[in-house]
Amino acid sequence: MNAEIIDGKAVSASVKNRIAVETAALTEKNGRKPGLAVVIVGENPASKVYVNNKKKACAEVGFESFEYALAEETSEEELLNLVKKLNADSKVDGILVQLPLPRHISENKIINAIDPKKDVDAFHPENVGHIMIGDYSFLPCTPAGVMELIASAGVSIEGKHCVVIGRSNIVGKPMSMLLLHKNGTVTICHSRTKNLKEITKTADILIAAVGKAYFVTADMVKEGAVVIDVGMNRNAENKLCGDVDYENVKEVAGFITPVPGGVGPMTIAMLMENTLTAYKQRRDSECP
Ligand code: NAP
Repeated sequence: MNAEIIDGKAVSASVKNRIAVETAALTEKNGRKPGLAVVIVGENPASKVYVNNKKKACAEVGFESFEYALAEETSEEELLNLVKKLNADSKVDGILVQLPLPRHISENKIINAIDPKKDVDAFHPENVGHIMIGDYSFLPCTPAGVMELIASAGVSIEGKHCVVIGRSNIVGKPMSMLLLHKNGTVTICHSRTKNLKEITKTADILIAAVGKAYFVTADMVKEGAVVIDVGMNRNAENKLCGDVDYENVKEVAGFITPVPGGVGPMTIAMLMENTLTAYKQRRDSECP
């Protein structure tokens, strides 16, 4: 068996096309483009790549992007002041503070300071609460991208055993919630899970969000399963790779996402979607 490849680049391109068409019409009507502020602190090379990709995507869909590249020594207070300024800036619909932040800055404090209506990453506790309840305007970008990929493969989640490896606030937990809202039967695994392989072997849909190169091997996967690889790691040759041993797992799985070209581009597309949502909601509240 050879798995069908779910092409994240193609799916993200179609999402961005749809956003671009809607943005062009709204920009003409409202006389203002949606605006995304991206804040980066320090010199993390991976973060710089992510920020550049986000700026590029903004240009592709017709958004304005405002970049704030701050020095590593920036104090927590200075960053909080910038967030306050962006909260009040009428040209800014979405605020994204690229994580991780330097150790002397509390990520929680910064996330909590972002206006929930501009929190396009959906990390603010108010938005996390909305996600739990299933009543949300912003979806967490990476899990939302995964949901789009599963939908693009024509796979129904209802009644399926969905196994998520990873329980981070950014990926694992919100991922599990979105699958639950679609009536999946969800098992969340983590570093203390016993007999991981026995659990993953029963997954109809297996989501790997571990952060360890080639962690999911073919013997952990049920024949025909949908395997979604969230991981972004560097292998021994410093090449980008996922959490899944792609070459061997694709012989067993029914569907699989590659790395690169799977979940990564979808995360950015969903960020654009959230920014457009924020823009539309602000317009609605400003012009009743
Ligand atoms: P994280 O915060 O480090 O969480 C990793 C999770 O994996 C934790 O819950 C951890 O369990 C679990 N884990 C670690 N070792 C394990 C093991 N041996 N068995 C089972 N579970 C284990 O990472 P994250 O932020 O969720 O990110 C996960 C991966 O996704 C990373 O490679 C990251 O770069 C990537 N990522 C990609 C995108 C994208 O757009 N494609 C976006 C975000 C993240 P404990 O909780 O018990 O420690």
